Amino acid sequence: HLDRIAQVDGEVHAFLHVAGEQALAAARAVDDARTAGEAPASALAGVPLALKDVFTTTDMPTTCGSKILEGWTSPYDATLTTKLRQAGIPVLGKTNLDEFAMGSSTENSAYGPTRNPWDTTRIPGGSGGGSAAALASFQAPLAIGTDTGGSIRQPAAVTSTVGVKPTYGTVSRFGLVACASSLDQGGPCGRTVLDTALLHEVVAGYDPRDSTSVNEPVRPVVAAAREGARGDLRGVKVGVVRELHSDSYQPGVLQSFDAAVAQLTDLGAEVIEVSCPHFTHALASYYLILPSEVSSNLARFDAMRYGMRVDDGSMSAEQVMSATRAAGFGKEVKRRIMIGTYALSSGYYDAYYGQALKVRTLIARDFAAAFEQADVLVSPTSPFTPWKIGEKVNDPLAMYLSDLCTLPTNLAGNCAISVPSGLSADDGLPVGLQIMAPALADERLYRVGAAYE
Ligand code: GLN
Repeated sequence: HLDRIAQVDGEVHAFLHVAGEQALAAARAVDDARTAGEAPASALAGVPLALKDVFTTTDMPTTCGSKILEGWTSPYDATLTTKLRQAGIPVLGKTNLDEFAMGSSTENSAYGPTRNPWDTTRIPGGSGGGSAAALASFQAPLAIGTDTGGSIRQPAAVTSTVGVKPTYGTVSRFGLVACASSLDQGGPCGRTVLDTALLHEVVAGYDPRDSTSVNEPVRPVVAAAREGARGDLRGVKVGVVRELHSDSYQPGVLQSFDAAVAQLTDLGAEVIEVSCPHFTHALASYYLILPSEVSSNLARFDAMRYGMRVDDGSMSAEQVMSATRAAGFGKEVKRRIMIGTYALSSGYYDAYYGQALKVRTLIARDFAAAFEQADVLVSPTSPFTPWKIGEKVNDPLAMYLSDLCTLPTNLAGNCAISVPSGLSADDGLPVGLQIMAPALADERLYRVGAAYE
């Protein structure tokens, strides 16, 4: 994999940092343990992985795709990083992302865009475009992403790979640099549903160091993927969400989705239509809640504690903070800090943030009602196939629309997977099928996903 990175990553730019020495040392340790007759640390011992550059690592820099953290190395490992190390999974390096995970194309990275291996003039999705592109270009067989509004699933869809947003609270956020804490969730990415399930069981689990961690046993997702692979979905009820199927989506995406639904029926599933009326307000709600949390979380980048510091020696502390943040944050991050600060300010709080929270509750209720009728819900993962680099970069609203189908899951805290759904008939580019399940029923994603893939 290191050879492959050397060959293709000049063009793809999936990695911000490659840690060849460390990865080889970790792989050798696995070999040595095997030679000594020890049992492998996990089913994935020795299988290398690409890590989104938003999880802290003591032996590599963590930039979050931002200039403000350029050159910063964390004094501690994220819980997820520790779990990877304990499982004997060599980390090949850290992957590119939209700055602080804000974006849908990886163009908001301060270190330049990642390219989609299917067509290098196109975006690999975002914010976790680096992890998805590393998988699609065979630079890594496994990757880790984070999904706040779709950043695991949408990159998976547009690169024809698999990505899972686990139930909120089931993968530790300790050492995951916060974007929007009530939405952020780390999760596994792979090229097959079974690979992704194996990684899921490594990274999930209760962590007392994360105050929103769920104290429940890890779901049996590997067994579910194996069961699903037998291709029998009799007894499974699949709900097609009416509000996530619109004429505004790309025709080839809708065609592929309709074919996927037909295939699920062929596999024995019973398909019904369900309605989630408040999903149409998910975008408006998300783009208030997320910036509000961002404006608070990113206050920690104050030039005193981490990374960049702009100071000519004559400046007050306040001037240093302001100059550093002006120079260190990119456009999209600043835009969201400003929107969030406004939405949280006194006099506007109830009208914006408070209202968005109410809509969030209504969306969770829609899910609860739909899951009384169906075991899983399905939709396209993204309304569009990957667009050209540069096409939407100056139109944030057009960019936000690519998150339409993925946002409800984050707002409600349940789980969803994106699995490859062939190539679009109109442009020959990858399409993803999204499967959603209730909180703490992640195994359903793997069962249905493995049957479908
Ligand atoms: N594209 C969404 C956003 O820009 C999702 C980001 C994410 O999941 N980290 O906010």
